[in-house]
Amino acid sequence: MQSIIIQRVKTTWLKTTFCLVANDTRLCYKLCTFCLFLSHSIIMSLLVVGSIAYDDIETPTATRTGLLGGSASYFAYAAGFFCPVQMVGVVGADWLPAHTEMLQKQNIDTTGIEIVPDGKTFRWAGKYHANMNDRDTLDTQLGVLETFDPKLPENFRRAQFVFIANGLPSVGIATLDQTQGADLVVADTMNLWIEHTRPDLDALIKRIDGLILNDSEAKMLTGESNLITASRKILTMGPKFVIVKKGEHGAVFVSEYEIYVVPAYPMETVADPTGAGDSFAGGMMGYIVSQQGVSQQGNLDGNTIKKALAYGTIVASFLIEGFSLDRLREISRADIDERLEAFQMMASF
Ligand code: AMP
Repeated sequence: MQSIIIQRVKTTWLKTTFCLVANDTRLCYKLCTFCLFLSHSIIMSLLVVGSIAYDDIETPTATRTGLLGGSASYFAYAAGFFCPVQMVGVVGADWLPAHTEMLQKQNIDTTGIEIVPDGKTFRWAGKYHANMNDRDTLDTQLGVLETFDPKLPENFRRAQFVFIANGLPSVGIATLDQTQGADLVVADTMNLWIEHTRPDLDALIKRIDGLILNDSEAKMLTGESNLITASRKILTMGPKFVIVKKGEHGAVFVSEYEIYVVPAYPMETVADPTGAGDSFAGGMMGYIVSQQGVSQQGNLDGNTIKKALAYGTIVASFLIEGFSLDRLREISRADIDERLEAFQMMASF
């Protein structure tokens, strides 16, 4: 349906150009109005599949339990500042309906969240070291995530943008099997899957356009100690680009012909870094979708990439100012844009 609309927009713009050349202003005006109407009826959709969790977090100064977390929750909430999001995940009987409402208020379609009535939501407990960067996993209770078999609602299957958030690679594969012709597919991963489900992870990586991972994971995945060499090795495994996150040192984007870097936004106090990577990805993908910054071949233009990296950085900088999604719930898109402007002043030379 959407590709038909896109085709009609293209044809109408062509006719409009012809009328301009032929000096027929009235017809040109009519066609322009029609074209704008058609353009607005194209709703770009961003689908995310990943974990939905209740987290227990311990930092050097505070302990909080039962916080809404999970890779899909953080990604979706961050992306919701920029575009509509379709969220796919699984929760148990302990899931609070207030959390569904909270997600829905943030432009997130929650019809892809399956509630298992006799199951328990995935629980994760983590403890941060004094540097607030390194952390230990204290406990993982998979609950309903253990047997999660994603089923995409019919209207989710045509999503043009897909993000496979951190989770079992087989869930990512099952999701891609149900989608049709997405323009851009990006995935995140972690050390657990690199170590324990390598064949599935390799199969997933073959099917995506972009991979996001942190520096130690890039090294673990490739056996290379240099991040650029590691990124180039990942490009040979299938993706067109790799984004390596380096925590408080920012991120680097690598494709065959391009390298872009973005520093982290300088923060004096960090309350809880949980979800920083997922919200970075959400801000980045959300911005790309809002700009429709991808060609039909799945290529991104350089300026869109750089701005998307910056938006991801800014959303993550807000997220870590509070626990769970607390801080993101207090801010608006205007706050994000204001901090982005300050960031631009700091980083341009
Ligand atoms: P991040 O800080 O970006 O790594 O994301 C942390 C979030 O990932 C937490 O909210 C956890 O609930 C979730 N998480 C932790 N371990 C896993 C796992 N093995 N699979 C999926 N999600 C996880």
